[in-house]
Amino acid sequence: MFNSSERACRVWCGLACVWLFILSAGCDNAGVTPPDGAGGVDGDAVEISAADRERERQLIVQIEKLKPLHKPMGKPRPGDWLAQHKEAGQSFELYVASKPVRPLGKRRVIYIQPLGDFTATQKKIIAVTSEFMGVYFNAPVKVKETVPLSAIPESAQRIHPTWGDKQILSTYVLHDFLKPKLPDDAACFIAFTAQDLWPGEGWNFVFGQASLRQRVGVWSMYRFGDPDQNEFTYKLCLMRTLQTAVHETGHMFSISHCIAFECNMCGANNLPESDRRDVWMCPLCAAKVCWGSRINMVDRYATLKAFYDKYGFEKESVFMQKSIEALEK
Ligand SMILES: [Zn+2]
Ligand SMILES: [Zn+2]
Repeated sequence: MFNSSERACRVWCGLACVWLFILSAGCDNAGVTPPDGAGGVDGDAVEISAADRERERQLIVQIEKLKPLHKPMGKPRPGDWLAQHKEAGQSFELYVASKPVRPLGKRRVIYIQPLGDFTATQKKIIAVTSEFMGVYFNAPVKVKETVPLSAIPESAQRIHPTWGDKQILSTYVLHDFLKPKLPDDAACFIAFTAQDLWPGEGWNFVFGQASLRQRVGVWSMYRFGDPDQNEFTYKLCLMRTLQTAVHETGHMFSISHCIAFECNMCGANNLPESDRRDVWMCPLCAAKVCWGSRINMVDRYATLKAFYDKYGFEKESVFMQKSIEALEK
C-alpha cells in the first residue's frame, strides 16, 4: 500500500537520490559524470600549489580543534537518508586528491541564473542568498538577468500526473540550458527557480540537482513554504534556501555527501531531516571549502558571522564565534 507518508518519503527521497546518483558510477538517470579523480572534465582544474600543500597541513590541525563543537553522525533515525542509502563518504584527503573543481584562476565567479517568475519576496531571497554564497565560498557572485520559463521547451516541462504541480525537468536545465552557456569565467553556474523540479521518469520531484564535475546545478524554492505568510515563514524559507544553495554549490565544487557529522553536506531524505541540520558544515567539509577557495578558516568564520549578524541569524552567529575561539586556542 502506498500511503501518503510513503509517498512523501519517496518524493523527498527523490532529492537525496539525485544527489546520490551524482556521486555514483552508472548515474545515467541523472545524466552527470561521476567523480573519477581525474580532474575537472572541462580541463580547467587548478594545479595544486606549494601553498595549497601548506594550507592542507594547517587545515588538518584545525579540523581536530573544531571537532568537539560538532555532532558526529549517529545511528540514522528510521526514514533518514543513511537508513536507506549506503554512502562511502569523502575524507578531506580524498577530496584534495580528487583535484576538485575550485573557484580559482580564470574560473572564479559563481553565476546564478534566475529562471521563471518570482514574487518580490522571492527576489529578495535570491539577493540575500547570492550574498551568502559569496561569503560561504569566498568567491564573487553574479546574478544574471532573469530568463522566462518559456526558455524551457514544452518537452522538458510537465504537469505532475497526480498532484497537478507544474514541473520542469532538472536534467534539461543542467545539460541543455546551463552547460552550453557556461560563462568563460564561471566557477559554477546554478539556476534558481520558484518552479517545481523533477529529474525524469520514476520521480515525483527534487529540490535541487548538481554535478560534481561539470560546474552546473539547479535548485528550487517551490517546496520551502510561503515566505509572505509571516516573519517566521520568511526566515524559514530563507534558511532552507540558503542551506540548499550552499549544499548544491558544495557539490559543484566536488564535495560529496558527508557521513561523518550532522552537517549541511549530508544527504537528506525528507524536510524534517534537513531542517534539523544547520547551515554550517562540519570541520571536514568546512576544510574542503577553505582549501578549495584558498581562504583562512578564521577569516571565513568571521565573514560568515558578520553575515549572520546582519540578517539576524543569532544561533549561527554564536556558533561562528565559538568556532573562531576554538581555532585560536
Ligand atoms: Zn547532496
Ligand atoms: Zn560534513
